[in-house]
Amino acid sequence: MVLDDLGSSLRGTLDTLQGKSRLSEDDVEEIVKEIQRSLLSADVDVSLVMELSDAIETRALEEEPPGGTTARDHVLKIVYEELVDLVGDSTELPLESQTILLAGLQGSGKTTSAAKMAWWFSKKGLRPAVIQTDTFRPGAYDQAKQMCERAEVEFYGDPDGEDPVQIARDGLEATADADVHIVDTAGRHALEDDLIAEIEAIETAVDPDRSLLVLDAAIGQGAKEQARQFERSIGIEGVVITKLDGTAKGGGALTAVNETDSSIAFLGTGETVQDIERFEPSGFISRLLG
Ligand code: GDP
Repeated sequence: MVLDDLGSSLRGTLDTLQGKSRLSEDDVEEIVKEIQRSLLSADVDVSLVMELSDAIETRALEEEPPGGTTARDHVLKIVYEELVDLVGDSTELPLESQTILLAGLQGSGKTTSAAKMAWWFSKKGLRPAVIQTDTFRPGAYDQAKQMCERAEVEFYGDPDGEDPVQIARDGLEATADADVHIVDTAGRHALEDDLIAEIEAIETAVDPDRSLLVLDAAIGQGAKEQARQFERSIGIEGVVITKLDGTAKGGGALTAVNETDSSIAFLGTGETVQDIERFEPSGFISRLLG
């Protein structure tokens, strides 16, 4: 565990505990308040923040620091462990043949993430293909095609096609030589019945190994309902958080992770195909607290 992973104000509070062998209730309360402030301003759901702070408080007051450990290092370890528990590990992604379905609302960053993920898999030595089934948003086909050209990965779409399910089937057939199939789907401005019906039909047709929900880092309360709906209709195995290069910290997406009992797979950090990172708990935690 690295101390730098924790936000500067929290680190400051912890530093005031230097030299103490025991923490008082007031010390623990101050640390917990600091963490709460940071997490709430990073859009983490209130009930998740409360659960986390209760767990930290109980452990910090009840657990004895092991011999040779200062009270500060002990509480730091507890904070870190509880935060890792909150954000979870990254979604398991075996480097082998698989089909990935992307779901999410319009503008969340699905098409961009599809090309980015394909680029990522290609750098891992696999042969990915992106299949664009979005017949709803004008320009989706051209955007996906251009990004895939930039990523130098295979692309399938049908600019004149009207049936997303047929496009998905044709796409899988046309790109049968690829190892990793990433199927992009149409979003809507809101969770409408036809969106859900369409993605359910695509899911049945492509039978993905995993479905990922793409969420804008700025998502707040809306994450819960979206996650619930997509989980119910297709099952969500992981979350992609986009636009983390902006000011939003992405804490809202943790609600979706919690709601779908899943984990975070990738982070989007810019508009170009290389701007993608595999989720890694400590970096994300330091962003949440920073
Ligand atoms: P879709 O409707 O879900 O397919 O969303 P798009 O992939 O078209 O993305 C919507 C907008 O967000 C586009 O202008 C993208 O360039 C932008 N975008 C997507 N991901 C990121 C990201 O990680 N960072 C930034 N800055 N912009 C992003």
